[in-house]
Amino acid sequence: MNPVNRQKRQPEDLKVFITARESKCDECQEDLGSKTWIMLAGQKGARCLSCADLDHLVFLPAGDAALTRRARAHSTLSAVVLKWSKARKRYERQGLLVEEAALQQAELDCLADEEARAQRRHRAAQHRAELDVAYVQRFAERIRQLYPKCPAQTATSIAEHACARYSGRVGRSAAAKALDEEAVRLAVVAHVRHIETPYDRLLMDGWDRFDVRASVEDAVRSVLAKWQGSQHLNQPG
Ligand SMILES: [Zn+2]
Repeated sequence: MNPVNRQKRQPEDLKVFITARESKCDECQEDLGSKTWIMLAGQKGARCLSCADLDHLVFLPAGDAALTRRARAHSTLSAVVLKWSKARKRYERQGLLVEEAALQQAELDCLADEEARAQRRHRAAQHRAELDVAYVQRFAERIRQLYPKCPAQTATSIAEHACARYSGRVGRSAAAKALDEEAVRLAVVAHVRHIETPYDRLLMDGWDRFDVRASVEDAVRSVLAKWQGSQHLNQPG
């Protein structure tokens, strides 16, 4: 007989409890001792994991959120493992019972993720190495001259981004020209528009680029004014 045929299966998790007291399986009548894992089946009492048909699952202790999420997603059958905490007077999640193959797949996914992250870090490092460090620094300093209240880290990131566009493609004079007030201002404006306003999201939503630019113009101007500091507030942005 199906142990859950009385209750309509809710979309919520199956639950397995680690009990503290002596327990007996109400189906196979086996004495399970204390600290045993049981499933509660409503009026029918406790089930050992064999009778609950969960004994082929493996236990994944709580702690790794990504692994847990993935293992659960890969597992056709899974159950949350709970234990009563005397101190906190509530059930606490100990981990998850999942199919072994699902856990393995989840581990592979996480590993692939780590590799992807490592590769991304490697690419980023390579990218920084290709940038002309001294030039980035000059560009960042120039930003801070024009926008003294712009956070230093932001200035560096704007400079790196702007310099990446010049690196290897332009000669010394063009690079020097890129330090013009107007060129620096344009780089800062582009950054502010993308990062400090809903510009990108509005573009994603399919709005016309010119309409979107117009709609964030005030927001951009106010950030620039803030970064310039009060003595420049009256200058046109
Ligand atoms: Zn049993």
